[in-house]
Amino acid sequence: MTDTAPPQQFASDNYSGICPQALEAITRASAAGSTPAYGDDPWTRLAEDAIRTLFGTDAAVFFVFNGTAANALTLATLCPPYCSIIATDIAHAETSERGAPEFFTGGSKVMTPPCPEGKLTPAAIKLCCRKTQSFQASTPAVVTITQPTENGLLYTAEEIKALSDTCREHGLKLHMDGARLANAVAALGCTPAAITWEVGVDALSFGGTKNGMAVGDAVVFFDRSLARGFAERAKQGGQVASKMRFLSAPWLSMIKNGAWLENARHANESARFFAQSIADVPNLRLAWAVDSNSVFLLLPEQAANTLRAQGWRFYTMFGGAARFLFGWDAKPEAIKALANAIRAAMGG
Ligand SMILES: *Cc1c(COP(=O)(O)O)cnc(C)c1O
Repeated sequence: MTDTAPPQQFASDNYSGICPQALEAITRASAAGSTPAYGDDPWTRLAEDAIRTLFGTDAAVFFVFNGTAANALTLATLCPPYCSIIATDIAHAETSERGAPEFFTGGSKVMTPPCPEGKLTPAAIKLCCRKTQSFQASTPAVVTITQPTENGLLYTAEEIKALSDTCREHGLKLHMDGARLANAVAALGCTPAAITWEVGVDALSFGGTKNGMAVGDAVVFFDRSLARGFAERAKQGGQVASKMRFLSAPWLSMIKNGAWLENARHANESARFFAQSIADVPNLRLAWAVDSNSVFLLLPEQAANTLRAQGWRFYTMFGGAARFLFGWDAKPEAIKALANAIRAAMGG
């Protein structure tokens, strides 16, 4: 360690604290005193309405503690135990949930067809369907895509439509892991509807934690009939908060005052600023385009070791790319300090 510790870490957007708007909402909901439990409270009702208004459709909305539960319980609701889930091989649901989707479905398999750049394609879905035509195989029931992807890329509305068309042709449901959906909406400059139900997404895990909340992701079923059994599964899985207002009040507040989008814009701009700050470092290449709030660098091992010895934290993922991820609280001076440290470590 050097004597100057990194001023801020960019290992993940969940290193951040609670954004002021979310924290104030919790404080205000608490100051209101005694209120009915398990979501039978005004904040939860209004937060559900705010999400329906945000998407411009009459969806079924639920709040759970985290994204793993949102994904696993939603996929379990859409996939019988004797069927399979199609995902990319870098999908959070495949790599980072300790088998929760398989566990909560009670027997499904996750199929991971080859996918260029970490994005699912219609051809990949068709391949999975072709491979499982036998009665003895776990035929696919649901496709899950992540927007933005785990490597920071975006699906365009047209790409999602093409995937959902393929799903319809094969009788599959389409789930979106939107742990960072706000970043996708901010980057594409579209409405939330334009990249979800309007292009055939059936159900969404809508991330709040990485957007600036303390805890609490939303699950949105755009077709209410598909939500059958979700509430019961969530309770069985220990994901129904008794003091639900502390999960829902920040959602209500951040949608009403626009903080959800402001936070995402800031995070995306921070990633772009970082990428620009290191653009001229010799021999340093990006692993993927900077579409959202992450930057993946093909950092030589020696430079990575130097940075780690200086106290910088980052994950090396997907075959060796160093990931830097920016949240609502990313500070420009700290981004510059990281860029300078990388430049020095690269000998430039
Ligand atoms: C962070 C994340 C989740 C949710 O993770 P939890 O730690 O369970 O909240 C889900 N999907 C993706 C792509 C993520 O990055």
